[in-house]
Formats: sequence, structure tokens, C-alpha cells
Amino acid sequence: MNRLLLLSSLVFLTWSCQQNNGNTNRVIFAGEIVNPTSENVILFRGEEALDTALLDDDNRFSFSLDSVTEGLHHFVHRPESQYVYLENGDSLQIRLNTSDFDESLVYSGQGEEVNNFILEMYLSREEEQSLIQSLYYLEPGDFQVKIDSLRTSKLELFDQIQTEFDISPKASDLARAFVEYSSNISMEAYPFYHRRRSGEGEIHDLPMTFYDYRKNINYNNHDFTYLRPYYNFMKYHIGNLAYNHCKQNCPKDMNKEGRHLHSNQHKLYLIDSLFTQKELRDNLFRSVAIDYLLRHDNEENTIEFIDSFKKYSENNAHDEEIYTLYQSILKMQPAKDLPNFTVYSFDDEAVEISDIKPRETVVYYFWSGSQAGHFKNLMKRVAELKTEYPNYHFIGLNMKTDKANWKNMVKSYKLDPSEQYWTEDYDETVNTLIVYNPNKAIIVKDGKIVDAFSHMFRSF
Ligand SMILES: [Zn+2]
Repeated sequence: MNRLLLLSSLVFLTWSCQQNNGNTNRVIFAGEIVNPTSENVILFRGEEALDTALLDDDNRFSFSLDSVTEGLHHFVHRPESQYVYLENGDSLQIRLNTSDFDESLVYSGQGEEVNNFILEMYLSREEEQSLIQSLYYLEPGDFQVKIDSLRTSKLELFDQIQTEFDISPKASDLARAFVEYSSNISMEAYPFYHRRRSGEGEIHDLPMTFYDYRKNINYNNHDFTYLRPYYNFMKYHIGNLAYNHCKQNCPKDMNKEGRHLHSNQHKLYLIDSLFTQKELRDNLFRSVAIDYLLRHDNEENTIEFIDSFKKYSENNAHDEEIYTLYQSILKMQPAKDLPNFTVYSFDDEAVEISDIKPRETVVYYFWSGSQAGHFKNLMKRVAELKTEYPNYHFIGLNMKTDKANWKNMVKSYKLDPSEQYWTEDYDETVNTLIVYNPNKAIIVKDGKIVDAFSHMFRSF
């Protein structure tokens, strides 16, 4: 793609949109979406939707806001989303093509430098991840040197941008935090990945200076709450702290069967003691709760975990989600009936899921039309399992796919239509049947749940 050509057309756009009616705070955020996948763009600050802009006939949208709370925002063009950093007086344009969402995105206009820098850091992540994966076998001192140098080269790049352009202190803090916390995630992860990579049974002793960056951790910076690297760093950091606390202070609890429960309770305790900012606390508490619940501990432990959660996290903004999941999980315990859930047959018939082969052993698995790689692997696995377990019925439940598309796929891949069903509402499917892992399977015998958290590739 010719970026220069693209930029010159954007300059024109910028000019035509810069009528701010005398309000110097006015923020314009506009652009063009090639191959749109929905009819609008929604602008968010944290979890709050600030405004929605419809695409016009030329697939252009425009937000004009009297002012913003300066800082990180994000925009959503379903099903994708991306960051946008906004300050008062900004007039920012984007252009993107949904067939290559993040890679095609370009920001231009007032505010472009910091946005393009953050985007570049965001895009370099994947490549860097595979590099860092290859470094985990190194001894701690060598690993630290490598990570330091990666961090330094990025910060130097940003310093250079800062000498050329006028970037506000707040934008600068955010861009730097993006770099710092991203690289510190690897430091927090190192002891565990190194143990696995090196085959050492114990966590390696670390040099005194290994965790020096921890002196500069800001646990309560409201501006960073929705910055992914910051948030992900905190998750790794809490995991690391909890592991070491428990190893020193509660080794007995870590050896018995309730270890999973104990370490997650310990994480709740740490979040409560380290973080004061409500939004961040709520998000971190949520993350521990969802993570714990989805790993399906036994019923007794699950109930005890929720009691601890209640104790530490009062009026969590995500209570509804967490308690709904908790209730759904209690309903999915072994020996219980399958919950009520309607699916659709290839002949458009509404069927209760429990009425599919009610007196047999049924294995439900899940797929969606948009994940071609997963679909092929899964179908190969289904074919293997069918040969291995000829008495089981393997039933595919399709999610997140237009019904006509689904039928086309069933036909073109020659799937047996009597073994394929379509689900209408994605959220309802995920919440009722608890589908958070793409390879999840539910095993049912004679209408009773055997294992609702089984795995197509690992459990058989
Ligand atoms: Zn502990």
C-alpha cells in the first residue's frame, strides 16, 4: 500500500474537518473504514461508551466532542478495537481496512505522533514475543541484559520523536509506560518460564538487581488502568508475588490438594493490600475470579473461593458477570442435568440441547466459521475420536456465525447435518455452556453431566 498517497488524502480530510467553531478544546476524531464489518464506530473511555458515530455512504465517520478527559481511549468497530490517545484540541484522522485491521491502521493530524508510536509498539509485540520466548533459557543476568537493551532502544526511539514533535507530558508518560510495563512483564514471567525451559525443578536464584524496576511500579495510576501492558504486568506481578509469598509463608497450603484455591485466595489478598484505585482493583479481582472459576475446581472449593472474593472485593463493577458465571458453573457440576438451552438443527428446527440423544453418551464441541485453522484441526480430531469411541455421539455446536454461512460450511465440508447444530446468541452460549476455551467439550451420559469442562485434545 502506498502510505504517502494515503497520507496526502488524509491531509485534505484533516483540513476539511478542522472547523472547531472557536472552541479550542474541541476534539475531532474521524476517518474512513475500508470493508466495514459493522455500521458504526463507538468511542470509549475505559468501559464507558462516550459516543457512537454511524458510517456514511462513503464509509466515513466523525466524532466531534466539546472536550475529552485527556488520555487513553479506544474505539470499537465490531468485532475489532484499538487504542486512541486523545487530548483537547486534537484533530485526528484514521484510515483502516478491516481485512487487516491493526496493520492497515494509520493515524494522522494533530495527535498522530503518540498514537502512531503506541500502535507501532503494539504491532511489534508479536514479533518480539517470539524473540523473548527464545531468551527464557538464558541465565537471569544475561536475560536481564537482553531485556534492558530492547527496552532502551524503544525508549530512545521515543526520545527522538519527542525532540522532533511537541508531545505533552501526559502522552509521554503513557508512551513510556507502554514500553516499560511491556518489557517488565517478561521479567515477572522469567522465573517460571526459565524453570520450564531449563528443566530445573526449582525457581532459579535471581541477582539482587533483577527486580530493580519494581521500585518504580506505580500501583495506582488512573491513566494507565486500561493500558493493556500495565494491566497485564499487574496480573503477572501478582502471580509472581503470590507464588513467592506462599512458598515462604504457607508452604503447607501449597502442597495439598486445595493449592489452586489457596494461591488464588492469596492473590485476592495481595490485590486488596496493594491497590487502592477502585477501577483497577475491580478489574484485577475480576481477572483472578474468572481465571479461578474457569479452571473448574470442585464445588466445595468454588464456594469457598467466592466467599473470599466477597470479603475482599466489595461491590465489584463486574459482580453480575462473576456471579452469573459462578451460578452457571454450579449448574454444570458432574451428575447434574444439562441446563436448558435451545439450539437449531440443519432443518431450522429449535431443539432443546438435552433432547439430542437423551439416552446416549454425547460429546458436545464448539466451532465458529471465522476460525478456519481451528475448525480444520478440530474436525480432524473429531474424526479420530469417532473411530476411537464408536459408541459416543459427537455433536458440533456452531457459534458466532451467520446461519446461512454455517449451512454452507456444513455442506461444503461434508459434515453430517444430523450431528451439527447452530446457536443463535453468542453471549448466551458462552455464559450458559461456559465456552471460554475453543477446544472445550461437554460430556453427557443419559442426560446427566459427566464432565462439562473437558478438552477435545487432552481429555480423551
Ligand atoms: Zn499463601
